[in-house]
Amino acid sequence: MILFDFELERPDTAADAVALLGRLRGDARLLAGGTDLMPNMRAELVKPGVLVSLGAIAPEAPATLPDGSLRVDAFSRLADLERSGVVHARAPMLAESARAVGGNQVREMGTLGGNLCQESRCLYFNQRHDYQFAARCYKLGGERCYPFPTNKRDTCWSVYMSDVAPALVALGADVEILSEAGGRRIPVEELFTGSGLAPLALDGAELIRAAIVPAPAPRTGWAFHKSTVRGGLEFGMAVIAVTLALADDGKTCAGARIAVGAVRERPVRASAAERVLAGAVPEDARLAEAAAAAAKEVNPLPHHGFTKRYLMDNIRVHLRRTLARALERARGARG
Ligand SMILES: Cc1cc2nc3c(=O)[nH]c(=O)nc-3n(C[C@H](O)[C@H](O)[C@H](O)COP(=O)(O)OP(=O)(O)OC[C@H]3O[C@@H](n4cnc5c(N)ncnc54)[C@H](O)[C@@H]3O)c2cc1C
Repeated sequence: MILFDFELERPDTAADAVALLGRLRGDARLLAGGTDLMPNMRAELVKPGVLVSLGAIAPEAPATLPDGSLRVDAFSRLADLERSGVVHARAPMLAESARAVGGNQVREMGTLGGNLCQESRCLYFNQRHDYQFAARCYKLGGERCYPFPTNKRDTCWSVYMSDVAPALVALGADVEILSEAGGRRIPVEELFTGSGLAPLALDGAELIRAAIVPAPAPRTGWAFHKSTVRGGLEFGMAVIAVTLALADDGKTCAGARIAVGAVRERPVRASAAERVLAGAVPEDARLAEAAAAAAKEVNPLPHHGFTKRYLMDNIRVHLRRTLARALERARGARG
């Protein structure tokens, strides 16, 4: 497959990158590792006139801020996060979620910002449309939805499959967003619109500059699980990320954050399940109750051949185990 013609800009600073985005309005796309964008350009799912490469801007090393939070440059390669001693020490779930992405080559090229801003996926969308499914779907400006024919044109159930986003949501992280107008900081949860048509709540002239992961409360445990068919080299069928904090007594759950990814248009917070745990002693039965509540409230979309029923069972079973692992770590964590 041959790529169409486009211009390439290679700014030296993030400020220059957003100035270019602002000037080119809509016709430009950021190019980080290119592992998501390039395949999508080859399939002509997106046809930017200009690519603004971030390749000349060296990412800053992950650093601990005075308030104990961890700042991770969004231009960092996933493989560097996987290898970073600081990330392992301060936010091990971020390192583990980075390690879960694709294979070595994807992680050596792919960046944190690109991972968060990846396009959503659907068996009928991520492919060339000139020889198969030739009539365009709603997301491409067409007149139909192949997998869900009764959907209206404003509804697209393509799924958002970042492995790192659910981990950042469970960690309560923020992202720093940069535009010509300056910077703003929002919780990672607010980065998503909830619509498969345009999954990201980012203006085309903004970029993600960093993720900020707060220091965990004392006695906090974490756990991450990604279900795949082959156990590697592929997108998740469901991704689960959990943090669980114990109260001073070391027994009662002070609070939990549960995020489920790869099954909806955005990573979903399982708030009802979190409420089942908060203030309770998280015995096995309570963990199972929370996991069952989450499977229901997440209400997974069938995707890539996995049925809703199967995905609900998957979430119920793996969330119970993931919560148990987080609890174990919380019990081991120094207060
Ligand atoms: C074989 C294969 C397997 C994969 N497996 C997985 C997987 O298991 N899990 C997973 O999560 N992903 C997977 N991916 C998707 C993708 O490769 C990764 O998510 C990767 O991290 C994307 O990062 P990138 O730097 O290459 O992004 P790019 O392709 O450069 O960019 C992706 C999108 O993000 C935008 N963008 C990039 N950086 C920024 C920024 N700082 N601010 C705002 N917008 C930005 C780009 O404009 C583009 O729209 C896979 C891809 C391939 C090809």
